[in-house]
Amino acid sequence: MIKKTKSKKVKPIDKPDKLVLTAGPSITERERTYVEDAVLNGWNFNMDDYVVKFEKTLANYVGVKHCLGLTKGTHALHLALALFNIKPGDEVIIPDMTYVACSNVVEYTGAKPVFVDIDPVTWCIDPDAIKKAITPKTRAIMPVWMYGSSPRMEEIMDIANKHNLLVVEDSCPALGTIYKNKKAGTWGHIGTFSFQGAKIAVMGEGGALVTNSQEWDERARSLYDHGKDSKKQFWHNEIGFMYELSNLQAALGLAQVERIEELVAKKRQIFQWYWQRLSDLPRNLITMNYEHKNSRVNCWMTSIILGKKSPLQRDELRRALKERNIDTRQFFYPISMLPMYAGKIKVNNPNAYYVSLNGINLPSGVMLTEEQVDYIARNVKELLTRKAG
Ligand SMILES: *Cc1c(COP(=O)(O)O)cnc(C)c1O
Repeated sequence: MIKKTKSKKVKPIDKPDKLVLTAGPSITERERTYVEDAVLNGWNFNMDDYVVKFEKTLANYVGVKHCLGLTKGTHALHLALALFNIKPGDEVIIPDMTYVACSNVVEYTGAKPVFVDIDPVTWCIDPDAIKKAITPKTRAIMPVWMYGSSPRMEEIMDIANKHNLLVVEDSCPALGTIYKNKKAGTWGHIGTFSFQGAKIAVMGEGGALVTNSQEWDERARSLYDHGKDSKKQFWHNEIGFMYELSNLQAALGLAQVERIEELVAKKRQIFQWYWQRLSDLPRNLITMNYEHKNSRVNCWMTSIILGKKSPLQRDELRRALKERNIDTRQFFYPISMLPMYAGKIKVNNPNAYYVSLNGINLPSGVMLTEEQVDYIARNVKELLTRKAG
C-alpha cells in the first residue's frame, strides 16, 4: 500500500471553465529542441540518430540489453508473438480485463486468446487463474501492468518456467514502475512499452520492445521492416511487418525518456494529493491503486473502484462529475464481453467483471495542479458521502 504523506491546505477553487481531462503530457524546452533538430537535420547521414539514442537510453533505463523503437505498443506486442513463433492452434493466456490490443495481436497470429481472471487488488492477471488455464496447447502468457500497476511477476515466471511457456509483458502503461527491484518490462522474455499520447511518456504514437536476447533483437530488426535481409538491399527473407519507429518521433521520445523519473515523481505526487483526500473513505465505498512491498508503481492513472456500498453507480458518478467539468475514463471492458467473443466462449472471471464495470480513471495528466486535484477529490467525496434525500 502506498504511504500517505501529510497534505498542506490549498485554497479551494470553484468549478473550472473547461473540462479537466484525464491525461496530457509535459512538454518542455528539451522536447522542442530535439524535435526541431530532428526536423531540420534528421535526414540522410543523420536519418536515425534519434532512434539509436532513444533505443540506447530506454534500454539503459529499464536495464536490458536490447531495445527496438516501434510504431505502437500494439505492434510491440504483435512482434513479440511473432518472435515467439506463435501459430494457429496455440493458446496465449491473457487477463480478461485489459486493452483490446492484447487479444487482437493473439488473433493476428491465428492463435487463441484465453481470458483469465484478475486479482481485484492489483487489477492484474491472477497467477492462480493462469495455472488453471494451462493446457497442452498453451505457448505463452501475456501479463498486463494495468494502469501502471504490477502483476505478481515472480509467481508468473515460476509458472512459465515450470510449464516451459514464453512470457511477453504488456508493460505498455508501466514505464518507470518497479516491482521488487526490477523494472516493468524486464521480468518476462520480452517487454513492451507504449508512447501513445495519453501515456506517462509520449511520442504522439509510438512503442518499444525490450529483451535480453540478441537472437530476438536481430530477427525483430528484420521482421519490423518487412522481413528484410540485413546485408542484401531490397531482399526480403520472410513476410514481415512495417513497424519501425521514425526519427522524428524518436526525438520526442528521447526527451521524454530522459525525463522519465521526473514524470514518475509527478504522477506519484498527483496520486498522493488524491490519496490524502480520499483514503479516509471506507473500503466498501472506494479502493485505489495498489503498491506491493519493495516496489514503486508509476501511478500512470490514479483510479478508484467503487465498492459495494457506493450510493452511486459508476456511470451516475461519471455523469455527475462531468457536470462539474471533471472528465473521467471508465475502465476497459472485459474482452470476453465484446461482440467478437460474447456468447461464443465461456468465462468465469468475476473479479475482472467487477473491477472493469466499477472502475474509473480520475484526471491524472502530469500538468495537473494540487488545486485541481483538491477540487476533483472534494467532488468525488461529496457525491459518494451525500446523505439520501
Ligand atoms: C497503451 C496500452 C497499449 C498499447 O497502446 P498503443 O496505442 O498501441 O501504443 C497496450 N496495452 C495496454 C494495457 C495499454 O494501456
